[in-house]
Amino acid sequence: MDERVKELLDKAKLTATAAAEMAAETGTRLVGRTRRSLKVLDLNNEIEILMREIGRTVYLTHTGTETDEEALQAKLEAIDEKYAEIAKIKAQQEAQRAALICPVCGKPCDKTDLYCRVCGEKLQ
Ligand SMILES: [Zn+2]
Repeated sequence: MDERVKELLDKAKLTATAAAEMAAETGTRLVGRTRRSLKVLDLNNEIEILMREIGRTVYLTHTGTETDEEALQAKLEAIDEKYAEIAKIKAQQEAQRAALICPVCGKPCDKTDLYCRVCGEKLQ
């Protein structure tokens, strides 16, 4: 991977990790969310690497180099799995977000709250 891109990603991860540590002081909910976001970042990163490798394989095929079909197929399937995992994480995030936002004032609330702590709206 390009060194500058890698450096940027590493910085982004460090920032997200610091955010996760801060959130740990106020509750585990935010940490869980940050962890999921980090996981998506990792998965997208891995997908990009696989895409690049597949691109190289396709080019080598074009130049007449014999293609390792099995390895290529394994990479394509690995990408499918990673996209599926990302979709699962995104669905979890959506579900959590939907459960935590007050419909009246928009304030995030705990999933266990019966009433909004800010405006008093009945939540469940
Ligand atoms: Zn509210």
